[in-house]
Amino acid sequence: MAGKMEQPPRFRHTKIIATLGPATDSPEQLARVISEGVDILRLNMAHATPDWCLERIARIREVSAQVGRQVAVMMDVKGPEIRTGPVEQAIKLVPGETFQFFIEGASPPEDGRGVAVNYANLPNDVEIDKPVLVDSGLIRLKVIAKDHERVHCEVVIGGNLGSRRHINLPGVKVKLPALTDKDRIDLNAGAEAGIDFVALSFVRDAPDILELREYLDGISSRARIIAKIEDQAGVENVMAIVKATDAVMVARGDLGIEIDYHRLPIVQRQIVTACQMEGKPVIIATHLLESMIHCPVPTRAEISDVSNAVREQADAVMLSGETTTGSFPMESIDVLKNILATIEPTVPYQLNTEIKLHEPKSKMLRSAAVLAQELGADSGIVVFTRSGFLGYVLGAMRARGVPIFAFTDDECVFRQLLLPWGVEPFLMEFTDANPEETIVRALDTLRAKNWRPSGATLIVITNVLAGEKTIDSLQLRTID
Ligand code: PEP
Repeated sequence: MAGKMEQPPRFRHTKIIATLGPATDSPEQLARVISEGVDILRLNMAHATPDWCLERIARIREVSAQVGRQVAVMMDVKGPEIRTGPVEQAIKLVPGETFQFFIEGASPPEDGRGVAVNYANLPNDVEIDKPVLVDSGLIRLKVIAKDHERVHCEVVIGGNLGSRRHINLPGVKVKLPALTDKDRIDLNAGAEAGIDFVALSFVRDAPDILELREYLDGISSRARIIAKIEDQAGVENVMAIVKATDAVMVARGDLGIEIDYHRLPIVQRQIVTACQMEGKPVIIATHLLESMIHCPVPTRAEISDVSNAVREQADAVMLSGETTTGSFPMESIDVLKNILATIEPTVPYQLNTEIKLHEPKSKMLRSAAVLAQELGADSGIVVFTRSGFLGYVLGAMRARGVPIFAFTDDECVFRQLLLPWGVEPFLMEFTDANPEETIVRALDTLRAKNWRPSGATLIVITNVLAGEKTIDSLQLRTID
């Protein structure tokens, strides 16, 4: 009987990010999550301590080595968030009643109908008749009066207000620093553990990114920055933010509260387009499969939402509650994979002609993308990159159905190449003195790992020696 044929690895353009939590962070569950093909694991520092993060990153690396597959780690720091203070027991808010928010240091109201907030500018920033939203908008109040240390509100939609709840002030430009003390402590731990990405919450403008980059440089972290756009200021300044950052997350949880909810699809599209113009990866996050926190199958609307992200050519889709505390984390990952596998081949991908390319070498990459599409599904682009730059630019080209095999000799860059659309990274030593030897080893790797069969024609972007000089070249190579 003939031996079992090894299947070629399944290629996926759209990357998967899963947030780690009690449902997924045991060594056994982690092994399943990593083997299932998740590309990036997110640590949400709004709910975590530096010790938890150090321990989990060590565990991720250990389990990755055991299962023979690497994943990247994203630390999501909570940024400038307004929160209520602690309460002894949940306060019941009833529509029509009054309630007050007072700044830290002010005395609580005698009747107990108030809570402290961590934002001293709150009374200056809010306007009469404007909303104050608590707990992702589940509780809604309206400002009716204010003085220098208190905001008096009327409850519009009631609920139980517990300790340290998140407050949204739609339309208000919050004047908190981009990085809090806790963020800095978290980042120090992340840098020590070797995080690959930092997601910064509530990015309002480009200087927020520059502040984080300076901090990361100061602690010798090479993490790439993901700007979370989740309020009106972020939307207004999206172009400047996209230029300053390495990647963007459409953080729809908060964004859907901070802007009119019915504009969310338009704003999502605007952010995705802005990223594609600058060639920066974009992640669609939150509520993709929310119902799967409790149910083993997705709603029909969720299936359409994920499909829409694929059609918009987002680089990655992200799971949050589904994989942190959900009852069906593995099923959620599986559902995402199935939708991506089914929808991707149906998308009439357009080569990204919007992207502004500056260097001649980047322009050469566009030719490579056009050529690869012409060569068809068995083809692929092979690129060698030490910084990851070429892999990121090629991913941004959106070459239909063509994998980008990005070889690097740097472990951190290898993991960072797990984010951009269509890029399949490989870690391999380069032979600087002999580029041809490096190419042959790369092509051998692709054949040996069954990525491409003998006879497949690939495009190789590489340096060649021309006399004393090294020059850039684009070559057609056939796998032996
Ligand atoms: C979001 O708001 O969509 C998001 C991803 O941020 P967080 O989970 O930190 O609220």
